Amino acid sequence: MSDPIVVAGSGLAGYTLVRELRRLDASAPVVVVTRDDGAVYSKPMLSNALAAGRTAATLATADAAGAAAQFGASVLAGQPIEAIDPAARALRLASGERIAYRALVLALGADPIRVPLEGDGAGDVLTVNDRADYARFRDAIEAAADVTILGAGLIGCEFANDLRLSGRNVRVVEPAAWPLGRLVPQTVGDAFAQRLREAGVELRLGATATSIARRAGGGYRVRLTGDEAVDTDVVLSAIGLRPRTALAAAAGLRTNRGIAVDRLLRSSDPAIYALGDCAEVDGLVLPFVMPLMHAARALARTLCGEETRLRYPAMPVVVKTPAAPLTVAPPPPDASGAWECIAGADGSLEASFIDAQGTLLGFALLGGTPAARQALSRRLPAVLD
Ligand SMILES: Cc1cc2nc3c(=O)[nH]c(=O)nc-3n(C[C@H](O)[C@H](O)[C@H](O)COP(=O)(O)OP(=O)(O)OC[C@H]3O[C@@H](n4cnc5c(N)ncnc54)[C@H](O)[C@@H]3O)c2cc1C
Repeated sequence: MSDPIVVAGSGLAGYTLVRELRRLDASAPVVVVTRDDGAVYSKPMLSNALAAGRTAATLATADAAGAAAQFGASVLAGQPIEAIDPAARALRLASGERIAYRALVLALGADPIRVPLEGDGAGDVLTVNDRADYARFRDAIEAAADVTILGAGLIGCEFANDLRLSGRNVRVVEPAAWPLGRLVPQTVGDAFAQRLREAGVELRLGATATSIARRAGGGYRVRLTGDEAVDTDVVLSAIGLRPRTALAAAAGLRTNRGIAVDRLLRSSDPAIYALGDCAEVDGLVLPFVMPLMHAARALARTLCGEETRLRYPAMPVVVKTPAAPLTVAPPPPDASGAWECIAGADGSLEASFIDAQGTLLGFALLGGTPAARQALSRRLPAVLD
């Protein structure tokens, strides 16, 4: 029997690929190797699970054995991969076991970025990027009345709204002048901030945390630039993510911001592919669900013998902040053009990024109807055609 297709990672990227593979080929041997517990879950739910009363356990829809049965695959859970040997087409696990592959798919995700902080509490700062992190976070906030979040990006704002809905005081510390600075223009950022404030979220914009000290009676003192200090029970960092490239780089694969792959999702080694948060596809790192779904569909066909170039349509992202419902489709980073904002009679705010030819290249819609969102989405060009 030929060696299996080995999928490294059991997040949305890894398991979506296996599901797509099974649609096309019921019998090809597939092995999933993962260092976590191999449970199936939807990561975006981590930032709206509190108000929904979900625990780490109830977020999982199947455990590793259930996933193996569902996908007709072997799932090796709790097995960190230590090295890839491209010449031998084999992986080495931390346990010492070697696994040969005919094709290897890296779906290793990304690590939370940590900013350097002074103080004896700096090591206690939490991040939430998987179910195990969420379990620790739930334990930490059990008795907490006040939570400080570092970073007002998409994930920081979603946690702020969710924590507020669960009845806690929430403060978000952000160096930029408005939240979601990489995704929306200032007019939308200001209006979004206003709605979060009205929901009771405290936003400290233009501020940076410099040190976190443990307090004698419990909790932390967070010192901000300008020598201001705030006392809080829990500190959560949501600064951003960095693709996990170390295994690939150590194996001699080309890496840049992510594991560099072409439109076939193929790395610089012809038998190794990558998708999801760890991958840089044709120069783009897009750590969201829609890109990995498109990548999984295309890659499954390629692995089944029908070479399929990845195409990304426009992929707007819905920000899960019920206090300030927002959909964003940021323009490409190198695009030239200008934002135009229109306030709707229904209280919505629509910002369009338009180039010199009058083409819509991105948008941000605060409030508004699903129909308005769809109309804007339809006018956007494909991200990768
Ligand atoms: C809180 C939060 C909310 C989000 N909300 C949204 C949203 O609303 N909409 C949206 O589009 N996107 C959202 N995202 C992003 C989206 O969830 C991710 O893009 C997606 O889940 C990434 O999936 P992945 O499989 O690439 O990575 P992961 O889910 O991180 O999976 C990586 C896998 O690799 C395994 N692994 C890593 N290293 C090793 C190793 N050495 N050996 C073996 N296994 C290893 C891990 O155990 C894990 O199974 C959100 C992200 C977060 C954190």
